[in-house]
Amino acid sequence: MVATTTTTIPATPVTTVPETTTTAAPATTTTSPAPAPAPAEVLLAAWLLNGDGEPAAVISDSEAIPVNVQTVDLVEVDGVAYMQVTASGIPDYGHTLSAAEAAFLAGRPRARTDFVGGAPVVGAGDVVDFGQDLGYRSTGCTDTPGSGYGFWPPGPACPTRQDWDVWFPITPVEAEVDATTGLGAMGLWVNGVAVFNWGDGQSWQQERVWWNLAPAAEVYDLDICPGHSAMGNYHHHSHPTCLAEQLGDDGSAHSPVYGFAADGVPIAGPWVDDDSPARSSWRIRDYAEPDSPTGCGTPGVRDCLLVDQLDASLGTTPTDRAGPTTSTAVTSQSGNPFVAEAGWFMQDWWYDPSLDDGGARALDEHNGHLGPLPGLDKPRYHYHVTRERRDDGTMADVFPYYVGPTYWGELHDNALTGGVDRRPGRGGRDRPPPGADDDMPAPNGNIEAAAEQLGVSVQALQDALGPPPPDLGLAAEILGVTVDHLRSLLPPTPPRP
Ligand SMILES: [Zn+2]
Ligand SMILES: [Zn+2]
Repeated sequence: MVATTTTTIPATPVTTVPETTTTAAPATTTTSPAPAPAPAEVLLAAWLLNGDGEPAAVISDSEAIPVNVQTVDLVEVDGVAYMQVTASGIPDYGHTLSAAEAAFLAGRPRARTDFVGGAPVVGAGDVVDFGQDLGYRSTGCTDTPGSGYGFWPPGPACPTRQDWDVWFPITPVEAEVDATTGLGAMGLWVNGVAVFNWGDGQSWQQERVWWNLAPAAEVYDLDICPGHSAMGNYHHHSHPTCLAEQLGDDGSAHSPVYGFAADGVPIAGPWVDDDSPARSSWRIRDYAEPDSPTGCGTPGVRDCLLVDQLDASLGTTPTDRAGPTTSTAVTSQSGNPFVAEAGWFMQDWWYDPSLDDGGARALDEHNGHLGPLPGLDKPRYHYHVTRERRDDGTMADVFPYYVGPTYWGELHDNALTGGVDRRPGRGGRDRPPPGADDDMPAPNGNIEAAAEQLGVSVQALQDALGPPPPDLGLAAEILGVTVDHLRSLLPPTPPRP
């Protein structure tokens, strides 16, 4: 069986009800943990359960918000076992600022204006609570108690309570058809914070060919953990350092489970053994060497795409929407300067199967492997957070960061997937979103035209818009377009009765 539908979870509080529980389906039952098979017990125990309602140190709304995960239950639906997890989406980070992190803060290109007083009010050795004011001129929220003002640089919104209710299959099954990860939540960390994929919905000149990698393009738009929120939905795109610290993962052994992807597959931290990080099998295209099979023939020029990022032997295909050269200066949305060097875009990467050589560090094209996990006596398939050691000894995040570009496992109908894919996942080859064949709704006038303009399915557009009235800001982020562009394509909102 192939997974057919995906469910978009808007940033507003919502309860996910698996389709299998409707009408005649057997009632969901909560089983007592005692007879659970050992792997389930271990997986359930991975979550950071907040048993006594401990409130967030800083972030609150009309009342205190409990941190981490509120409930974890082993439930069974139609004979399939799931972990059902409810969480606020607000973590319990208390991060000790390192000298390097303090220097990064003070050395921001726009520090003079990014901080209210021109410089951070915290330094190396300070313990910073999640949401604590460290001097930023936050623009995504107002300077009111409980908002988190000052923890986030100018740009991202401050996070709000999410009320996640998410289901993860206990025993993931390898997918028959690979589903591409999309924007929005695509899993949860063990503290209930959302897992986001590599993308930020932005592309070079908004041409939808050369897609930004969020951890690189947003490096100045993230907090110290590093994370930020989209419309209140707090998430990480790359190695969650504050979570690693909280889990005590010091790189001396195989990392523990940091979270679960929407397919139920655990995401382990970066390490497979003492000081030995898991190794992504994705490599950067060689644009510099004219004869390179992954380059475009002219040094530094990006005017060709790989035919298939999973099979570099198929070569490249020209594109009339060239990306910037690898020495071009680019400016991020928040006005910070970068150079678009090789590796800057998702289309700069290719999967090298020779790296997936069966060694302990090797990962497949989904960024996972079958191997030991702490607490389990049998090997189990899991993803890894991927990083590599640079020449100066520091660790750097490496694409695809955790999962992907495609999931290993089948997506169930109740899976937490923040938007179906609407991009070519592999070079220039267009791939339908999961389930597009089975679930395409009837054509729907202007919505259909808008979907065509956006290059997405009607279902994907409707999923992004959510129930009326649509949240255009969230929909635009999911679809990777500006709010104005989206609004221009949609029929005018009818007046409310
Ligand atoms: Zn983000
Ligand atoms: Zn592993």
